[in-house]
Amino acid sequence: MATTKTKPGSTVDSWCTKCKLVLAHTVEAMVDARITRVHCNTCRGQHAYRPDAPRAGGKAAKAGEGRRSAPKKAVAAAPIRSEYETLLRGRTADKARTYATTERFAPGELIKHSTFGIGVVIGERDSVKIDVAFPDGQRVLLHGR
Ligand SMILES: [Zn+2]
Repeated sequence: MATTKTKPGSTVDSWCTKCKLVLAHTVEAMVDARITRVHCNTCRGQHAYRPDAPRAGGKAAKAGEGRRSAPKKAVAAAPIRSEYETLLRGRTADKARTYATTERFAPGELIKHSTFGIGVVIGERDSVKIDVAFPDGQRVLLHGR
C-alpha cells in the first residue's frame, strides 16, 4: 500500500539541473512510490528527480530517496564482526587448516592464515578463488594453485 501523499502533479523540492538550485518542481512520473521525473516550476525544464544538490554528496541524495520510497529498509547490513562470530560459533580454532595457496578449501572450512588469523570459508568464487571471513572483514584468497 503506497501511503505517500506524493503523486504525479504534486509539488516537491528537487535540485534543478538547469537553475542549479533546489526549487519547487512538479512530479511528472513515478515508479512505485519513487519520483523519477519532474519539471522545474521556475524554468519548466524536465529532468530526473534529485532531492538534494549534487554537492551535498551522493550519500545524502540516496538516503533522502530511500526514506521517501522504502521506509522499511531502516537497518543496513550487520556489522562484519558479528557475522564472523556467528560463522565461528561452536567451532574451535584448532580444527583450522593452515592456509596455503596450493591447498584447496571448501565453503564452511576453517582456515588459519599467517597474517589474517582464523578465517571461515564462506564461498568459492571460482576454481582458484575463495571468499573468506576474517575478524577484520572479508577477503578473497587463492587456493588450489
Ligand atoms: Zn529550473
